[in-house]
Amino acid sequence: MSGIVIDNLRKAFAPTSVLSDISLEIADGEFLTLLGPSGCGKSTLLRILAGLEVQSGGSITIGDRVVDGVRPKQRDVAMVFQSYALYPHMTVAQNMALPLRMRRLSAWQRLPLLGRFMPRTTAMVAEIERDVTRTAKALGIGHLLARKPGQLSGGQRQRVAVGRAMVREPAVFLMDEPLSNLDAKLRVQMRAEIKELHHRLGVTFVYVTHDQAEAMTMSDRVAVMLDGELLQVAPPQEIYADPDDRRVAEFIGSPK
Ligand code: ADP
Ligand code: MG
Repeated sequence: MSGIVIDNLRKAFAPTSVLSDISLEIADGEFLTLLGPSGCGKSTLLRILAGLEVQSGGSITIGDRVVDGVRPKQRDVAMVFQSYALYPHMTVAQNMALPLRMRRLSAWQRLPLLGRFMPRTTAMVAEIERDVTRTAKALGIGHLLARKPGQLSGGQRQRVAVGRAMVREPAVFLMDEPLSNLDAKLRVQMRAEIKELHHRLGVTFVYVTHDQAEAMTMSDRVAVMLDGELLQVAPPQEIYADPDDRRVAEFIGSPK
């Protein structure tokens, strides 16, 4: 069970308030999208959920655990960034194994794909290689495991970033504009792939975008953000048909 409860969350980068009094409940297994223009505070909110940034006030519960003060690796979440954040000197296999290595680490051993990168216990290494290979195949990048990020296309890099999050088998996926560096055609294709992933895994997704089409086609619910506030949280069709507020209507471009 890994729903999320965000309670009266605030964040200031002194002296500027960036998030003011955000409260939101995200159901276990829901695909919720934070939608809003650049600078409205989406990434800051996601980074606080991931534990990469500390809130100024309020509280976050993931599953049945209050995670305030809990470090990123101890949270049952995985984050996919806009910039992919892959290590250029590591292969795809090594990039994907990194979260597992951190979790199951001890010493190292030389193996075909992962080299000296992996813990020494052969069974453990084999298990990690198997997990990485299976995930890569599921994402259509099984043939790319020995390459470095510089030898991949944008779409392939994006799949590696998703794969690296997947191998952790998190209860919550956090995705910060993961498609914004892709061309339009690939972006549409990847939307469907991420939705497929959501259906297959059945875990909670918190997805960030400034792209309305993405938000409307992918989400169970959309949370419209502006200037550090949540203006409306509702299913996509409701946001379109019945915007709560003139600012939502203006942002969505619907007639209210
Ligand atoms: P979004 O992801 O919606 O574009 P961000 O969460 O990145 O918005 O940023 C929200 C606001 O917080 C912006 O005004 C940004 O300049 C500011 N901000 C973000 N991170 C920092 C930081 N580390 N220090 C100071 N200001 C920041
Ligand atoms: Mg951002």
